[in-house]
Amino acid sequence: MTNIFIKVLERKRELLEEFHSLLSDDEILYARRDSHAFRRPRPCGLTVHTGVGCPYKCTYCYIYDMGFPDKISKYPLKPEALIYAILLNRYFYPTKYGTLIALGSVTEPFHPVTKEYTLECIKLISSKLGNPLQASTKALLDEDYVRMLASYAPYISILISIPLYKWSRILEPYAPKVELRFETMKLLSDYGIHVTLFFRPIIPHASEDDLEIILDKSIEAGVRRVIFGTLRISKNILHKFREYKEIYNLIIKRIKDLSRLDSIRFIDIYIRDLKDRFSGIARSKGFKVYPSACSANLDAYHQSCALCKFGPCNTNYKPIDIDEGDIVELMEYLELDSYYVNAIISNSKIKIIMKQYKLPNEIRDLITIISKRMVEVKRL
Ligand code: SF4
Ligand code: SF4
Repeated sequence: MTNIFIKVLERKRELLEEFHSLLSDDEILYARRDSHAFRRPRPCGLTVHTGVGCPYKCTYCYIYDMGFPDKISKYPLKPEALIYAILLNRYFYPTKYGTLIALGSVTEPFHPVTKEYTLECIKLISSKLGNPLQASTKALLDEDYVRMLASYAPYISILISIPLYKWSRILEPYAPKVELRFETMKLLSDYGIHVTLFFRPIIPHASEDDLEIILDKSIEAGVRRVIFGTLRISKNILHKFREYKEIYNLIIKRIKDLSRLDSIRFIDIYIRDLKDRFSGIARSKGFKVYPSACSANLDAYHQSCALCKFGPCNTNYKPIDIDEGDIVELMEYLELDSYYVNAIISNSKIKIIMKQYKLPNEIRDLITIISKRMVEVKRL
C-alpha cells in the first residue's frame, strides 16, 4: 500500500490501539474528556500543552486573560494519556506529513517544573507519532538536557522568544535574563538543532529600540532565522502598558477601533509596517525571515507548504507527490467513490468535485494537511 492518505489513516489506527493498551480505564476516560481530543487544529498546527500556566508574567502576555494561572504545573495527564488524547482527535493525523504540533503557546514547556514531562512527551511524539514538532520558550536549558533533546527529536524546531533586550528587565521582569536565553540559543544551535529567533510580540518603541542588538546577539549565538510577530491586546494588557507612556501612546495609535476592545477579548494591533521594516533589516544581516512559526517548523522537517494564504513556504523543497489516483483510492477506501466525480491537482491547490455529498471536515483536513495544499471541495 503506497497511498499516503491511506497509510496515514492506518498508522493512526495502529497508534490508537497501541496507546489504548498502555492506559487504565480511568486514564482512558480522562483522555477522552481532554481538550486535546477535540480541539480542531488550525492550519499552523495543534497546540499541545505540557503544562498549565506560566509564572513569568510578561507584561504583554495574553494567557492570563484566557484564564491560565501565574503559577505553573505539569499537565495533569500522564504523557502516554496525553498522546492518546491527541490521537483521539478526529482532525489530527500522525506521521511526518501529518498535523504540525506546537508546544508552548500558553505555558512554558521548559520551565523546571514542566521540562522533564515535556521531554517525555517530545520523546513519544518524535518516536511514535513522527509529526513535525516545534517548541517556543524563554527558559534556560543545560547541556545534558539539550543533548537528550537532540537525540530524541533531532529535527525539532525550537523558537527562542526574545522580543526585547534592554526593555526586557522592565516588561519581562520574571522571565530568564535575555543574555542567558542567548546562551541557550547557542547551545541548541551547537547541537545541530533548528533554532529560530522568535521576535514576538513586536512592542512599538521598545522592540524598535532593541532590534539591532537582538539580531546581532542572535548572529553571535549562531542563529540567522527569525519570525516577527504581532502584539495582541486585551483591556488588561493595555492597562498594564499605561505607565510606559511612549509605548502606550503608540499602541493606541495602532489599534484600528479601540471601542471593539469592549466587546471582544483580544485585538491584534496594526504592525505590518514595523514587520516589513524589521524583516528588511534582518534580511540585510543575512537572516531568513519566516512568515510564521509553522513555516520554521516545516523547514526543520524539509517540507514545503502552500496550504494557507501566507504561503507558499519553503519552496526550495519539492511539494509532496499527489496525483488524482491517490484521491480516487482514498475515496474507494472510505467508500465514498460513488459520490466522487474528479480532482484537479496543482502544486498549491486541490479541487475535488463530489456529487450530492459534502466531504466530512476531517477528510478535507486529511487531504489538506498531508498534501500541504489548499483544498476546495465543490458539489455538482
Ligand atoms: S513566557 Fe510566554 S507564556 Fe510565560 S508569561 Fe511570558 S509570554 Fe506568557
Ligand atoms: S503556507 Fe506557510 S504559513 Fe501557511 S500553513 Fe503552510 S507553512 Fe504555515
